[in-house]
Amino acid sequence: MAHELPPLPYDYAALEPVVDKQTMTLHHDMHHGAYVKNLNAAIEKHPELAGKSAEDLIKNLDAIPEDIRAAVRNNGGGHVNHTMFWKIMKPKGGGDPTGPVAQAITKAFGSFKDFQTKFNDAGVKQFGSGWVWLAGAKGEVHIMTTPNQDSPLTVGHFPIFGNDVWEHAYYLKYNNRRPEYLAAWWNVINWDEVNARFEAFKTGKAVQEPALAGR
Ligand code: MN
Repeated sequence: MAHELPPLPYDYAALEPVVDKQTMTLHHDMHHGAYVKNLNAAIEKHPELAGKSAEDLIKNLDAIPEDIRAAVRNNGGGHVNHTMFWKIMKPKGGGDPTGPVAQAITKAFGSFKDFQTKFNDAGVKQFGSGWVWLAGAKGEVHIMTTPNQDSPLTVGHFPIFGNDVWEHAYYLKYNNRRPEYLAAWWNVINWDEVNARFEAFKTGKAVQEPALAGR
């Protein structure tokens, strides 16, 4: 079964004014759409990989045939990263973190404010295109950045949540002001979904959807 572009879980304009409708439309339909299309084109050359999830493909890139390895790294990563990204945002999101992930953040960084400062700073300093993450490894959480569409999964870390610092994520509205985008973005984060992902990290089980009532 081919990989599919998941529908956006809210309207294109739902995250205004933090994320404008035009950026959301282009980002989801065109950018994420292209990653899915290009991933499927690569997998067509190696039908033995057709049954694998995108996560499984990028978890072990060394096992991917060399002729499609770069395509799977970039487009499989792009697919996995963006599938996460749409879900960890929501209208009227934001606020202080809740639940177990709030405790993990406080334990690792002292306070949510200190964590935000370090996360935003890492996002600003990521040169060129990439992502800034709260990732998990060995039971603990940490901030990391990845270039391009590389995923923490490829180096054995769990992507609890990440923010997209490619220019396509912010340039139409924020122009070159990446720090302003990073600061505003916290107003749309979906802590229920982040907690579901944190739970998946802690238990090693697949990400469970939070109850719809909580969204
Ligand atoms: Mn993107």
